[in-house]
Amino acid sequence: MTSLAERAHAAAVFINRTRAAHPHGPYRGEEHARTALRLAAALGLPIDQITTDMDWRRRRTQAGEPVLATATCPDTGQKYVFLARHPLYEDDAFELLGPCPQCAAPVPVAWVRHLGDLGDFLARPPLTDTDINRPGGVPETFADDSGHASACAYGDPC
Ligand SMILES: [Zn+2]
Repeated sequence: MTSLAERAHAAAVFINRTRAAHPHGPYRGEEHARTALRLAAALGLPIDQITTDMDWRRRRTQAGEPVLATATCPDTGQKYVFLARHPLYEDDAFELLGPCPQCAAPVPVAWVRHLGDLGDFLARPPLTDTDINRPGGVPETFADDSGHASACAYGDPC
C-alpha cells in the first residue's frame, strides 16, 4: 500500500503526462485525465483500470466535450462505460451507459456518483419501457440522448 502523498503525486503526474501526450491536445488531455481519476476514485479502482475515449456521438466541439470512461473490473474483466457529459463540471454524476430497451444502443441508464449507485443499478432487473416512463426510472438525459439508433422513438430531436 502506498501512502496518500505518493498516490497524490502519482495522480498529478498522470494528469501532466496525459495532458502532454493526448492526441487531441492538452485541454482534452487534462479533461480525460481528470475524468479517469474521478471515476477511479468513485469506484475504488486503480487508475490503470480506467480508459477514456472521445465521445463522437455526443460532440459539442467546444470546451468540455463529453468523455467516455470505461472501467474494467480487475477480477472479472467486466467493462462498464460511463459518460461524463460535461467533464469540466466535476460535481456532476457520471451517466452509466447501457442498452436502450427499444433500440439496444448504449444510452444513459443510471446516474452514478459512487460505488453504491452502481450497486443499486446492478441489483435491478434489466430496464424496460416501464422504467423509461417511471419518474426517476432513467436519467432525464435518456430521452434526448444522441446515442439512440435513428429509428428509435427516443433520441436527439434535432
Ligand atoms: Zn433507443
